[in-house]
Amino acid sequence: MAKFSIDLKAGNLKEEEKSSRGELIVGIDLGTTNSLVAIVRDGKSVAVTGPDSKNVLVPSVLHFGPQGKITVGDDAKQYLSSDPANTLYSVKRLMGKSYQDVSEIEERFGYEIIDEDEDKLVKVRVKDKFYTPIELSGHILRALKQRIEAELGEPIQKAVITVPAYFNDAQRQATRDAGKLAGLDVLRILNEPTASSLAYGIGLKDEDEGQTIAVYDLGGGTFDISILRIEQGIFEVLSTNGDTFLGGDDFDQAIVDYWTKRYDLDLSNPVFRARVRLLAEEAKKELSNQDHFVGNIDGLALEIEHGYFVSQTKSLVQRTLDSCQRALSDAELSKNDIDHVIMVGGSTRMPIVKKAVGEFFGQTVNDSLDPDQVVALGAAIQADVLAGNQQDVLLLDITPLSLGIETVGGLMDVIIPRNNKVPTRVGRKYTTSVDGQKNLKVAVFQGERDMVADNRKLGEFVLRDIPPMPAGIPQIEIQFYLDADGILRVKASENRSGTEQSITIKSQYGISEEEMALMLIDSLNHAEQDLAGRALVEARNEANNVLLSTRKFIKNNESWLSNEQSIALNQLADNLEKSVKGGDKDAINSRVQELNIYSEPLAHEALDRNIAVAMKGKVIE
Ligand code: ADP
Ligand code: MG
Repeated sequence: MAKFSIDLKAGNLKEEEKSSRGELIVGIDLGTTNSLVAIVRDGKSVAVTGPDSKNVLVPSVLHFGPQGKITVGDDAKQYLSSDPANTLYSVKRLMGKSYQDVSEIEERFGYEIIDEDEDKLVKVRVKDKFYTPIELSGHILRALKQRIEAELGEPIQKAVITVPAYFNDAQRQATRDAGKLAGLDVLRILNEPTASSLAYGIGLKDEDEGQTIAVYDLGGGTFDISILRIEQGIFEVLSTNGDTFLGGDDFDQAIVDYWTKRYDLDLSNPVFRARVRLLAEEAKKELSNQDHFVGNIDGLALEIEHGYFVSQTKSLVQRTLDSCQRALSDAELSKNDIDHVIMVGGSTRMPIVKKAVGEFFGQTVNDSLDPDQVVALGAAIQADVLAGNQQDVLLLDITPLSLGIETVGGLMDVIIPRNNKVPTRVGRKYTTSVDGQKNLKVAVFQGERDMVADNRKLGEFVLRDIPPMPAGIPQIEIQFYLDADGILRVKASENRSGTEQSITIKSQYGISEEEMALMLIDSLNHAEQDLAGRALVEARNEANNVLLSTRKFIKNNESWLSNEQSIALNQLADNLEKSVKGGDKDAINSRVQELNIYSEPLAHEALDRNIAVAMKGKVIE
């Protein structure tokens, strides 16, 4: 007997079910054309409808009505033809983009994009107000949140949101921020192809280890192909390819073009044009199931045959296959290396697409799930894992910020770069900078700046009892182990003596999203300054090494160096020492060079004398 009574439809949750499981975290596919929410219930991932509609898809469209009233979804979509200036779509294309990034594609948008400053993030003007793409996506997410709360009858706070695998940090951060604006705690930004694999249960079993997956995603306006590999429970993106202006819209356009020619249509009236487009989309969808379509606009019958549609769109399909080939080449793989092909996006419902992709990869494609729900269904599975409901599944993550240690002169030496996958283990060898050094401080930092002083300190320890050796001789190995829960263990060992010391740092993620974002922005703003700072520290380190060996050289060779030579060497060394205290790296480098030019012949002479002494020794023996 079932323990709980649960509506089979994604309806209100019964009280018993709520208390029986962990916290509810939703999965959200924030799409270019359509968005949707899914949850795991009773161990199964399901897309959620709204209380007012059976449709799980919410068009990613916003309409700005009178008195600043914003509507989202189907209600907004109807204004695309009647009030285009106040109706926004494809907002996802602008996420995390600067005006410079979108200048080439601007004419494709029906609405106004504003540039205040070339490097700044774009804004969109509607009526007299300016909106960032983050705010706009925030409105879509808020609408999704309210819709699902109304349907489930409980508040939703936490979410996993998906993004294309090729999204950069700015775009991912923008997506997180949009979630925050909608009042959501975004626990994870998940790659859409990874979510798609999870939806098909690929990556949840031990035997999936080492498998290679191709995710073919043809949506409304974009095409993405991603090649993934599952390695130690982690989805690694081997390559991505695609076309940001190739999608279902182009198939609609092919039908519009055909009708325009066949029926000699005049598309100069924007409302009529929009109606033809909508009818073309309807025709396209019907042709996925039948051979013939007839529709009509104001008594005018418009027809198309499936066979004709196929011949008109062959080249579009071929372009996606060319991208698949490039993605394979970039990953240095052949079609035979692919273990699973997954179909994602509403446009993969078209039989021509399925057939062509199956033939290209030479295998049966995974298409049993609803293609426009796949991404959300997978996001819900990841959310369920995070909620602690799927114990044996490994958490998939990457490091949000670089981890490293302080080296001579306060430089940050990155050991695990940011966006590295976890769990991970990295080791690196160091040595001492001072003769007879007995202790070595290992200070661990997190952040993107070149100087540790600008980064965040996580902890430090001292490796003690290194046997006294000249500088540069000890072999010190520093190992970083970062586990799937974000716990960092740092171990230092001196290989000649076997001394060893380690610490465990748990608070790696004890940093808020805002702090993290600030640190990243900070590193970008200071990139140039950091480069200069690093060059100065490196010049100083080099100078100090030269000084150390010069003083040693003078002492070891005083028996034969002339008075004049000793004075000159000391003078050049003093000059160098003085320049090290200043902040001019070029001055330091010139002093180093002067000293090197003068000391080089002396070093040769010293070498000759030492060889002579050694030879003499041999003879005596
Ligand atoms: P996105 O990822 O861009 O948000 P979706 O995955 O929701 O987009 O796909 C939307 C596209 O799928 C639209 O172009 C729509 O016309 C198309 N589509 C939906 N159903 C069908 C169908 N049955 N046949 C062909 N195309 C379809
Ligand atoms: Mg999509």
